[in-house]
Amino acid sequence: MERVELDVPYGRGEAKAIVRAAVIAEWQRRWDSEVRGRHLYAIQASVTRTTAGGMGRRKEVVWTRMRLGHNGLNSSLFRVGRHETGGCPFCGELETVEHILLHCTCYEGEREIMWGRVRCHVPEDANITDAWRNVSIPTEMVNGKLQYSKCRRYSLNEISKLSVLNSSPVDINLTHIPQEDCVDGWTYDRSTFYSTIITEVSQ
Ligand SMILES: [Zn+2]
Repeated sequence: MERVELDVPYGRGEAKAIVRAAVIAEWQRRWDSEVRGRHLYAIQASVTRTTAGGMGRRKEVVWTRMRLGHNGLNSSLFRVGRHETGGCPFCGELETVEHILLHCTCYEGEREIMWGRVRCHVPEDANITDAWRNVSIPTEMVNGKLQYSKCRRYSLNEISKLSVLNSSPVDINLTHIPQEDCVDGWTYDRSTFYSTIITEVSQ
């Protein structure tokens, strides 16, 4: 059979997808090799990962300021000549977002609340009933206290199967359900923790 080569042009959609992929690859390559913006790179190395939304304008502003490292904290003010040392008023270490969130002993109370609320994320569109959603995170004993696991959830696949079969979590021995890591990231109850950090960062 004779081989015929046809020059078939790309459709508009195909061409768009190819251009988009090439642009993202180049954007990612530059972001990987850039020397500036490394504070943000440490938090978000992928150029395509979307940021959290739906928290309201004011909280998003604070969230973005924390991510970019440009905020009312002393290390940030120091960079623009508005603070003498950049040091934390409580302990003298450089007052960065990371310092406030993870290290400063001044915020141990808030941090304990924060870690107490971190859980594996269960996507809103997961095919499970509310009853199953409520038990989707296993509990574990930590220092004699029963807590929700911060890094495990019941296999979403397994509990959605049970949910579809109309079985109630009350009738099931949950310990027999396989568990998985936080494959969809983490989530936490924001109500009190955010208000505390926001007053610090937005000054
Ligand atoms: Zn400090």
